[in-house]
Formats: sequence, structure tokens, C-alpha cells
Amino acid sequence: MKDGKTIAALIVAAGRGSRLARDRGDLPKQYLDLAGLPVLARTIMAFADHEAVDHLLAVIAQEDAAHYAALPIASGGKVLAPVVGGATRQVSVLRGLEALVRLSPDLVLIHDGARPIVPASVIDGVIDALANADAVLPATPVIDTIKRSSDGRTVGGTEDRTQLFAAQTPQGFAFARILALHRKAEAFTDGFTDDTAIAEWAGMPVALAPGSPDNIKITLPGDLDRAAQILRGARRMQTRIGQGYDVHPFVPGDAVVLGGVRIAHDKRLMGHSDADAGLHVLTDALLGALAEGDIGTHFPPGEEKWRGEPSETFLRFAAERVRARGGRIVNLDLTIIAERPRIGPHVSAMRDAIARICGIAVERVSVKATTSEKMGFVGREEGIATMGVASVELPE
Ligand code: MG
Repeated sequence: MKDGKTIAALIVAAGRGSRLARDRGDLPKQYLDLAGLPVLARTIMAFADHEAVDHLLAVIAQEDAAHYAALPIASGGKVLAPVVGGATRQVSVLRGLEALVRLSPDLVLIHDGARPIVPASVIDGVIDALANADAVLPATPVIDTIKRSSDGRTVGGTEDRTQLFAAQTPQGFAFARILALHRKAEAFTDGFTDDTAIAEWAGMPVALAPGSPDNIKITLPGDLDRAAQILRGARRMQTRIGQGYDVHPFVPGDAVVLGGVRIAHDKRLMGHSDADAGLHVLTDALLGALAEGDIGTHFPPGEEKWRGEPSETFLRFAAERVRARGGRIVNLDLTIIAERPRIGPHVSAMRDAIARICGIAVERVSVKATTSEKMGFVGREEGIATMGVASVELPE
């Protein structure tokens, strides 16, 4: 239901004997497995899950009844019992439309059963366009230059691709109008290969809506692999960046701990924990990328139990938070700003330590060092500063 109009989805899945089906044995392409679910089950779910769709009806081949019954989809609710199609797509669609008459939907979306990964945005676009049109075609602009050839061997000319669009489904219609046109067309031919062609034949205006390159039709053997790839990509990862900044003052001592490495020095860094300003900024950078606060949020400096804690604990926690969110660390980049001690000789050990703590490859860890050219608190060797950046991938 959208704007008070009831919407039926008609899924056309009665085709059989495609090249793909023959290549893979007897099972028609609509029932082949696509990333763990039959193609047709995915197609049906795409519409059953759409909140604007009130009724869903599949048109299937008689001999596929057992395959359809075995689909892992909830029957009842908006999914109606399937109807049997005819010898051509046009006949099958008409049978489906006739079966919907008793429900008298306002709008119907007619969709190929073999387009299992139709994005919700395409369905939305068709429904939206039906507010101002009685026939809507989702389509994508043709990208490739299109050549004409009458014999398949030599080029006869070039088409103007700016006026060309590749037709997709669902094609949307005012139900009563497309039903009337289908009934009328039946007397002339049964060869229309899509439903907007019938609208065009009858002189009915057809509005364009945005299609999607992901809305592929499973036709050739490679299409199933391509669809599986698109599905994997659909669980898109977002790339996130986090940064950290830290300073710690020097106090008298005999070593500093930086980047997980103990370096002999005539001072130590003061802090509640082991004062490893290198691991602290990477912890903050990771928590920043997750938008989960900072090191102090999770390990309050006022809490006695963190006194003298190895900073490894904090960084390991942050790396585990990334994994808990289903994400991964892309890379870490640490900059240490200090006059002394000299950091350069320890960079390699620091990278190893950080990679080990985070459970990532050392190639993903960068440690750099610079001085403050004797200026400021770092230059006066009152303390050191660190900066860290983390890049993280998280599921959308
Ligand atoms: Mg700190």
C-alpha cells in the first residue's frame, strides 16, 4: 500500500528450457542456488519484504510445482498460491493478472522471476513514478557504444546511444489498465516479451524510472556467479577513519615504554598506566573510528585497577571491539614526536608489537618518528607527543 493504493507484485517464473538450465541439468534457472537460496526465493523475498507490496503472486510452469513448493518462503500472508503460466511470457502474465482480479489491486508490479537481486530502491522508484503515470519502466542508460549489424559479421552502423535504455523489471502499471491491454493484445499476438511493449503497442505513455546495474537477469551460466558477487558486495563495508592525540610528561626514571617497546632512557613517562603514549593514541584512533568514545571512557584513569596496567590491554580491547562489530583494521599509522630517546632504531620492534597486539599483519602497521626541532615542550624534553590514525572497515 502506498498513498492509499494497494499494490500487487506479479513474479513471472514460468519460463523453462533456457540455455542455462540445460547446462546445469534439468533444474530451471529460477530454482538454481544463488548464495544459499534458490533464485526465485530471493526474487519473491525482495518483494515480500517490501512494505508497500500487499500481495505477491508467482506464475510458474506446471512441471515446476514441486520445485516451487520446496522454496524456503513463508506461504500465507502476502504470498499467494502460485498460478500456472502458459507457453509464452505474455500468456503467463495474463494468467497472473486474471488471478489477481479478485483482489483488485490498484497497482501491479510485473517482475521477472530471474531478477533475484532487484534493489529496493528500484522498486521504490517504480512505485513513486506510478503516482504520475499508469505505466512505468525501470531502465538504465546504455553505456556501451551500440553497433548495428544485419549479418553478425560486419558492422552496418552506429546507434545513438544517448537515446537508448536497457529495460528492466519490475514494470509498474495501473492494474485495470494493463489487464485491459493484455486482454486486448491476446487476440493479436502472444509474442510480446515485456509488458511496457504492450503499453507502447496500445499507444499508452510509459514513464522511465531509474534501473540498477545490479538488477541483472540470470540468463547465462556466468550470471549466477555475478549475482553472488553482487550479493556479497551488497553487504557493503564502510571505511572509517579515527585519530588519536596524546602527550605524556617526563619524570626521572630509567626507561620509557613506547609502541609496546621498552627503551632505556634517563627519564620515564608519567601516567596512570605504563604511559605508552604510542599504544594510547592507536587505541583512541580505533575507538574513534568506531565512534565508541576514547581510552578514558573504557579505562577511567581514576580506577585503581588500571594503575600500572600495560597499555597492550587497552589496544587489544580496541582491536577486539573492531572484530566484535564485524569489521577489520585496514591500517594503523603512529607518529611519535620526541627529541629523545631516539625512536628510529626501535620502529621495527614497535611495528611487530602493535601488529601482534592487534592481530593484524605488520604490513598494516606504520610507525614514524620526528622531533619538534627543539621547540615547545617536546623540544625542551619536558615530554613527548604522539599522533595516531586508524582506518577500519565496518559492515554498513
Ligand atoms: Mg595517554
